[in-house]
Amino acid sequence: MTTARPVLIIDDSLMIRNMVKRALVGAGYTVLEAKDGVDAVDTLAAGADPVLIVCDVNMPRMNGIEFLEALRESHAGRIPVVMLTTEGQPEMIRKARTLGAKGWLVKPFKAPLLLAAVDKLTSAGV
Ligand SMILES: [Mg+2]
Repeated sequence: MTTARPVLIIDDSLMIRNMVKRALVGAGYTVLEAKDGVDAVDTLAAGADPVLIVCDVNMPRMNGIEFLEALRESHAGRIPVVMLTTEGQPEMIRKARTLGAKGWLVKPFKAPLLLAAVDKLTSAGV
């Protein structure tokens, strides 16, 4: 028996984590949560093997850009990342793409757009 690999949700807002979780669980995904980049690095170091990561930009301790840098060191592009932010932030988008982010959603995001991005990126690697 195989267990579906989870989607890791990283956001310092419990409300946003819950919104993302609700959309993904409703579509049949399992999820893991982290409250910032440090928490996410710890989760991965403890053996979590997410199929995809949904990551906020603005967070305390370690922000989304810093997390992408850490993830590149530890996982070298093996886990696709969709970034979430509250506004366009073109410079952040450019930087995130340079660091390997595969998608971008502006909050408040629409659940169908989130699911479309997650479905596309999780099936692309198969
Ligand atoms: Mg935030």
